[in-house]
Amino acid sequence: MVQVLDIYIDGEFRQSDCTDLIPVVNPATQELLANAPLTTTAEIDLAVASAYQAFLQWRTVPASERVRMMMSYQMLLKEKQDEIATILSQETGKIFADAKGEVWRGIEVAEQACNIPSLMMGETAENVAREINTYSYLQPLGVCVGITPFNFPAMIPLWMYPLAIACGNAFILKPSEQDPMTPNKLVELFYQAGFPKDLIQLVHGGKDQVNHLLAHGRVKAISFVGSVQVGQHVYRRGTDNLKRVQCLTGAKNHLVIMPDADKDQTISGLVGSAVGAAGQRCMANSVAVFVGESREWINDLRDALAVARPGPWDGESAAYGPQISRQAKERILGYIEKGKEEGATCLLDGSECQVENYPLGNWVGPTLFSDIDVAMTIYTDEIFGPVLLAVQVDSLQQAIELINDSPYGNGTSIFTASGGAARKFQHEVEAGQVGINVPIPVPLPFFSFTGWKNSFYGDQHAYGKQAVRFYTETKTITSRWFRTDSATDSASEPNMTIKLR
Ligand code: NAD
Repeated sequence: MVQVLDIYIDGEFRQSDCTDLIPVVNPATQELLANAPLTTTAEIDLAVASAYQAFLQWRTVPASERVRMMMSYQMLLKEKQDEIATILSQETGKIFADAKGEVWRGIEVAEQACNIPSLMMGETAENVAREINTYSYLQPLGVCVGITPFNFPAMIPLWMYPLAIACGNAFILKPSEQDPMTPNKLVELFYQAGFPKDLIQLVHGGKDQVNHLLAHGRVKAISFVGSVQVGQHVYRRGTDNLKRVQCLTGAKNHLVIMPDADKDQTISGLVGSAVGAAGQRCMANSVAVFVGESREWINDLRDALAVARPGPWDGESAAYGPQISRQAKERILGYIEKGKEEGATCLLDGSECQVENYPLGNWVGPTLFSDIDVAMTIYTDEIFGPVLLAVQVDSLQQAIELINDSPYGNGTSIFTASGGAARKFQHEVEAGQVGINVPIPVPLPFFSFTGWKNSFYGDQHAYGKQAVRFYTETKTITSRWFRTDSATDSASEPNMTIKLR
């Protein structure tokens, strides 16, 4: 019998009282792996109430002790990296090396959270007025919520709760209903690492569970990662309910190829970033912008893409895995058809892709279009599959204008040997993450990851170092330090005695 996943509420892993379940399916075989419950409203209320009680205790625990627990968690995550990656691969189809890499990127955020005593330091200024000093503290908010997408079921929850918890908050995680087994493992390890019960509550579900959390009076802050449409809804509803909200959303990233770039490095970087993880990355490059004579490399790009074959997560030669669901595959095939109808030239067509011994997998082969018009649906929409568009322009200036006209602004890259071109690009381009001869420029968590335009809504203190600002309030104290005539006098007013000469 296939297991129904536990939720974690009120101090324990337990079965939800709900009767509605969401199937979790291996996308390479359609085998049913588990069912995720649609957590009831009463259970969510209990989760929030017990998270709040946990917060009241946790906020008094010294930062150094909080960090010691986070260090244990970080070590446990490292020890169990393969085990987590195996669960992740089974439910997402991601090839094992990719899954391990994803878990590693999450571990790096837990590492960063161990730096919280320094990151939470406030500011001081002496004598801001006569006898007056001012200093500020960062204090935790209370109950914070994380709503996460399917494409990184380990890394993205780990972007959020290690920092929130290290700051002294409690956290409610509502992961994607499409791959909820990995988050269950992460939360199980969290408690194994010795954290007090109730600091993280894990609730499964979809839209209704999210909407209930967005309206809950005790919830102070909401971190969301997912599609533009849902992100806009979460941002609007969350802020309407006067919550602090940050939403990292969809993308259509462009990679610019200058004629002086190293051809082999460029093509290899482009292939990996366009079809890696089956194109299901918010930092995937889905538009290749060929400047001037570099357009002569388009056929080489097609040949390189053609040998990047999908396959099962534990296969020897697979470059990437299946799409997450049948619906996702159908959606991508719809875009490929639409591209042809709208007049783009399909140089490589992955619609009929099959993988030996896996006839039921959600496979889409690498696909390349050229002769693109910016009004085409395949250009305007995020396809989120292994589909790359080759656009040709005459100059770097045109490439930058094309990118800046895009409604998305998550990431972008340029491949060039020219310092001048790189400098102009990094200075003028409108996107949150910029790569120079780097195809997927995701920063480590001692920097921050944001997005511009429709790729981000709300509080810009996202991921990594700056997220500490999202998960805390600043409290500024202004105090008068009274003077007395004697060093031995005990001051009748607060604080201390200062001897006057
Ligand atoms: P999604 O928006 O469908 O789902 C994200 C979360 O929202 C899930 O937990 C889901 O249960 C919940 N949800 C879905 N519909 C909802 C609704 N109507 N109301 C309230 N909640 C709802 O996203 P996805 O398909 O899981 O993930 C892929 C998307 O995420 C892509 O657009 C990708 O670009 C984006 N993404 C962005 C980043 C980033 O850093 N900018 C990172 C990863 C993924």
